[in-house]
Amino acid sequence: MSIAESAVKTNDPAQAHDIELHLRDQVAACTLMLNDLKIMGYSGHVSARLPEGRGFLIQSVDQSRASLRPELLLICDMDGYLVSGPAGLRPPSEVFLHAEIFRVRPDVNSIAHFHHDRTASFTLADGPQLVPVKNHAVRWANGIPVHPNPNHVNSPERGRALAETLGQAHAALIRAHGQVIVAETVPGVLIDAVHFVENAEAMYDACMLGRVLPLTEEEIASFSKDIKREKHINKLWTYYVGVALAQGLLPAEWNLKTRLSIVA
Ligand SMILES: [Zn+2]
Repeated sequence: MSIAESAVKTNDPAQAHDIELHLRDQVAACTLMLNDLKIMGYSGHVSARLPEGRGFLIQSVDQSRASLRPELLLICDMDGYLVSGPAGLRPPSEVFLHAEIFRVRPDVNSIAHFHHDRTASFTLADGPQLVPVKNHAVRWANGIPVHPNPNHVNSPERGRALAETLGQAHAALIRAHGQVIVAETVPGVLIDAVHFVENAEAMYDACMLGRVLPLTEEEIASFSKDIKREKHINKLWTYYVGVALAQGLLPAEWNLKTRLSIVA
């Protein structure tokens, strides 16, 4: 069983509870780190699928991305509606983006949505389309679709339309709005968000220098063979968590192991 499958499959209620607590720590940490890396900002959100179809974790609409805590996360059902959370907190308006992707992508256990300006610029000009130019961008070799509707994804219909645009891709751009990253785990979402923005910034820089040379099919095939995704996610998650712990951004008592308890 892959990590993606085992991350959310358990029949044991105690184990499901442990996984939820672990996911809460990971989602809060991922949000704080994406904010610190200037990838997220005053809006955007990270979500994580809970075991056994119990919905997903997501932050509330008003909670600052700079001070999120695990206990402040909400549980929403697979239709995007609030199931539980601290009194007075409500889901973000774009909760349907997460719900509708989780519904049609069983391989996806975590989603990040953010509004990174340099990356969004590829949807604003009649110029080059964003494609993989850096080695780790092979993750998006099967495409980076652009969703044509710049509106907030604030209804089930808009969520379904976005999920349709995403298809089987691992990331999408929303025109004049933002980005969506999907992965098998929360650490995977952090690392993919980092590499996605790195690739967009590198391509933007390359556009300034001359004709862009995207990764060729041969280069993509060759690097894809070399890269060990699980190992790479673990390495970078460990690095970013280490930096955040040293800076006091993350409390030492959070469970920030890469693998969830069930697969440890
Ligand atoms: Zn948005």
